[in-house]
Amino acid sequence: MYLTDSALDRLREEGFRGRIMISFDGAGYHDTMRRHPGAEKIVLDVIRRVVRLGIDLLINMNVNRQNRDCVAGSLDILDSLGVPAVRLIRTVGTPRWEMNGGSDTMAPKKYYDFSLDCMKNYMSAPHRMDVQFREFASVYPQTHEYGIHPVIFEDDAFQPEALSCGIARRRIAVTASGEILPCMQAAGKMEEMHMSMGNYFRDGLKPHLTDSQYLDLVSIPVSSRHGDNDECRTCPWFRQCLGGCRLQAKLYTGSFYGPDPTRCDFFKNGFRQKIIGLGDAFGWKRVLKGE
Ligand code: SF4
Repeated sequence: MYLTDSALDRLREEGFRGRIMISFDGAGYHDTMRRHPGAEKIVLDVIRRVVRLGIDLLINMNVNRQNRDCVAGSLDILDSLGVPAVRLIRTVGTPRWEMNGGSDTMAPKKYYDFSLDCMKNYMSAPHRMDVQFREFASVYPQTHEYGIHPVIFEDDAFQPEALSCGIARRRIAVTASGEILPCMQAAGKMEEMHMSMGNYFRDGLKPHLTDSQYLDLVSIPVSSRHGDNDECRTCPWFRQCLGGCRLQAKLYTGSFYGPDPTRCDFFKNGFRQKIIGLGDAFGWKRVLKGE
C-alpha cells in the first residue's frame, strides 16, 4: 500500500540497489490470511509495478493447510508476471497466527512432503522464477540447478569452527515495538516466553552489535553446540545438519543447545536423498547455495 508509483519512482531516482520483499500468500487466499478484503488485488498491482521498474524483488508466501492447494497456481501467476524469486515459508505458531488459524500449521514432515511434491510439479514445466522452499530446498530453473537447505556441509567439508547460523549473524531483527530478535521467525514468540534480548528504542542498535546477548547467541560455533546434547552428538547427520536452528531448538526443547526437531524430521525421514533423487530424475545439478 505504501509502494505507490511516486514512492517507487523516488526509489529509482535515488539509485536504490536493494531488494524489495513483498508478502503474497496465494491467489484466492491472500485476503483471508491478511484479513483485508481487496488486499490481493492491491499487492498484485504493486508487484507488477515493481517488476516493470526492474527493481529486484522477492515474494514471501506463507504455506499452511488453508492455502496449500493454491500454491502451485500462485507460483505460475508470479512467474508469468516476471517475478525473479519467491520464498515459501511454513506458517509457524506465532501468537497472532495461533489466534487466527494455528491449527492449520503443517507439521514439519507434512511441509516437507508438500514441498517435495510442489518442487516436482514446478520442475516439470518451463519456468524462469527461482523458488525457495524455506528450510527445505531451492530451485533455479534458468540454470537447472537446485540446493538443499538443511545440508550445511557435506561430510568432507565439515568446519567445526563455523558459526551455527550464518544468517542470524549477518542480520539482526527488530520488531515494531523495538525488541531485538536473532531472527524474525521469533516475532511474538519470545515475548510470549518472557524472553528479551534488549530493545532498540531503549538502547539503540550499537550495544547489540558490539557486546550483547544477541551477539553471544549468534556467535556460537558448531564445535560448542552439541556438548550438552546427546541426541546430536551421536547423530549420523550431525556433520551435515550441525544441529539445526538454535531458535527452533529453544522453542521446541527449551534450550538453545538442544536438537532442532524440524531438522530431525528432515534427515531421519530421508528427505535429503529424496531431493537428490528428484534432481537426478530431471538431470538438474546440485549446488551448495544457502537460503
Ligand atoms: S538436530 Fe536432529 S538431525 Fe540434526 S544433528 Fe541433531 S539429532 Fe541429528
